[in-house]
Amino acid sequence: MATPSESHVALDRRVKDHANKTLLQSNALYQYILETSVYPREHEAMKELRHITAKHPWNGMAVAADEAQFLNMMLKLMNAKRTLEIGVFTGYSLLATALALPEDGQILAIDPNRKNYELGLPVIEKAGVAHKIDFRESQALPVLDELMQEEKYRGWFDFVFVDADKENYMNYHKRVVELVRVGGVIGYDNTLWSGTVAVEPEYPVLDYVMEMKDKFLELNRHLAADPRIEICQLSISDGLTLCRRIS
Ligand code: SAH
Ligand code: CA
Repeated sequence: MATPSESHVALDRRVKDHANKTLLQSNALYQYILETSVYPREHEAMKELRHITAKHPWNGMAVAADEAQFLNMMLKLMNAKRTLEIGVFTGYSLLATALALPEDGQILAIDPNRKNYELGLPVIEKAGVAHKIDFRESQALPVLDELMQEEKYRGWFDFVFVDADKENYMNYHKRVVELVRVGGVIGYDNTLWSGTVAVEPEYPVLDYVMEMKDKFLELNRHLAADPRIEICQLSISDGLTLCRRIS
């Protein structure tokens, strides 16, 4: 763990070998991307929350810094105003989103674990973007089902980021494809699942990893065949599938 006096730069160097969130074959190339294009342009609050998150035992769950940068830029390019995030953890991807939205932007953020969200909340408040966030401490499905009941929420969101329990991604898709507007985008995270969707792991992995691999194979096939959306599979981070609703 970092000592309080350790500089951000030193911490970034020290964590790089065990926090390599990329499918790129070259760690050196990934570090080059982070050090040349990501860290120098990173918002202070993003840096602070990234370092807070790095100390959490489940730090691997947060999106990588390059993916956070990508989400932030995409939301600005889309002029997104209303977004939905399923799976918040410490709020790192949520902060990347909140910083991209206009002052009157609105994010509905769902996670049953408030404790982890509260680790990031002071940073989000300090950054002056907490007013954009409506955090619901809940499993996602009941909240999505409530939204589906209201005509107003059909086609409501400009962007939906799905990054929660992988076994429910198909259930989320059924709902969010109707909650996002035509022309809006859904992002499914971790869709390449450490590469296991195509490559046998070289080392033994948890049964859970292989079970979820089958879920992702099913999801990826399903998304590729869904006529309501156009898709784009990005190999950034652990795989991010963008789905643009077309009907
Ligand atoms: N998007 C975050 C990381 C999320 S990690 C980031 O990149 O910074 C996955 C999160 O999903 C965890 O915080 C977990 O509590 C949450 N989660 C698990 N089951 C869930 C469910 N059924 N509904 C909503 N969130 C859930
Ligand atoms: Ca993720």
